[in-house]
Amino acid sequence: MWCKALEEYFHSVRLISDRCKGCVNCIRRCPTEAIRIRNGKAQITEARCIDCGECIRRCANHAKTAITDCLDDIQQYKYNIALPAPALYAQFSADTPIESILCALLKLGFDDVFEVARAAEIVSLGIKEYLKRSDIKRPAISSACPAVVRLIQVMFPELIGNLIPIDAPVEVAARIARSAAIHKLNIPSEDIGIWFITPCPAKMTTVKQPLGTEKSNVTGAISISKIYGDLLKALPVQPAGLSGQRASWIGIGWTVSGGENAAVEVSNSLVVNEIGSVSEILEQVTLGKLNHVDHIEALACAGGCIGGPLTVENRFVAQHRIKQRTQKMIAKNVAQGKTLCQSDLEVALGVAERRAIEPRSILRLDEDIFKAMYKVELMEKTLKELPGLDCGSCGSPNCKALAEDIAQGTASKTDCVFILREKVRDLAQEMVRLAEKLPPSLHKTKR
Ligand code: SF4
Ligand code: SF4
Repeated sequence: MWCKALEEYFHSVRLISDRCKGCVNCIRRCPTEAIRIRNGKAQITEARCIDCGECIRRCANHAKTAITDCLDDIQQYKYNIALPAPALYAQFSADTPIESILCALLKLGFDDVFEVARAAEIVSLGIKEYLKRSDIKRPAISSACPAVVRLIQVMFPELIGNLIPIDAPVEVAARIARSAAIHKLNIPSEDIGIWFITPCPAKMTTVKQPLGTEKSNVTGAISISKIYGDLLKALPVQPAGLSGQRASWIGIGWTVSGGENAAVEVSNSLVVNEIGSVSEILEQVTLGKLNHVDHIEALACAGGCIGGPLTVENRFVAQHRIKQRTQKMIAKNVAQGKTLCQSDLEVALGVAERRAIEPRSILRLDEDIFKAMYKVELMEKTLKELPGLDCGSCGSPNCKALAEDIAQGTASKTDCVFILREKVRDLAQEMVRLAEKLPPSLHKTKR
């Protein structure tokens, strides 16, 4: 089998087959052409899927879903720490103090909380230092969004060297929180559950299949949409019993597109969000059109993590709330003279560097070079015979993808409705021609 390793991927995004109507909406929007409609149902090609969640947003029949952990899962551990994504704060009005939201998490059963926004501040310092280097590939591309990192692995492997080799804030948060808990409580690491409160399926996948590290320090991920109702019931809570330093506007701002850029203070930075637009920009990088740019902040969800498919609030409302919160904080921090400190930088340099990301090979047509060459020829020949309308009604996202599927033996030319129509027309003409050739005796019988 040519795709031996390809079945080994964990995916948070799943199909609920009974609900799928085969409408082809999702196949057109998938950035990696991972979906096909076969036998009237969507099928996801595991090696291509990056768990961006775009198909969840596009399916009006709610046939796509994301698997995440549940609040009950924390019962399996003696000590549990919640890592709230800053997008969680945007689900509540700006008048709800962040401390209250954190205390509501404690009320739900967590023993401690560590804000991912705090880790984002540490990562910001690490990125700032990294961008000072003269020996790095530019533009340096942010690796905070796992869907973007996987998009690069799958579709733009030549850009892997441009990814900033620093762990995402959630991984840094988990590492710091775990080591602090071990130190404070003197209990084995296996007894500690670390739970990310996530806005997107891509981060759930990263817990199961980490990027740039052997094993994630995060135990599991609970979607914001799953825990939101419980938090609402738990609120209001009088803020009390919180340990550690609170995040500032610098880290909280990361949840909105442009937040990382504001935090790392790079003037020559390009900011892009929404997976289709991210693909277009990465295409330009591969063509060498953006070599003059120092840094690219790229987030898969429209508007940033606040637009994640596992959030509950409208993204524009969420963005407005984050703006209100951060504006208040900026005023407060300036007044108190607070900013990122040297000790954060030491932590950043100590914990944030990670190992290289591997590309994902998806376009290998065959292990056998001769068979692969034959398939390439077949693909090219078939593509010329297809109408080139890229309509998607064959169940493949475009004519090129159908040609590849035909070469792989998973589709046939008559899946194309136009070719099928021609074939039916030719058959009908042939039948008329044959009917005219009926012997006279049969013509008489008919009368
Ligand atoms: S959008 Fe995709 S998953 Fe949803 S019904 Fe249509 S084909 Fe099925
Ligand atoms: S999650 Fe993203 S990559 Fe995976 S099938 Fe859906 S749209 Fe495609």
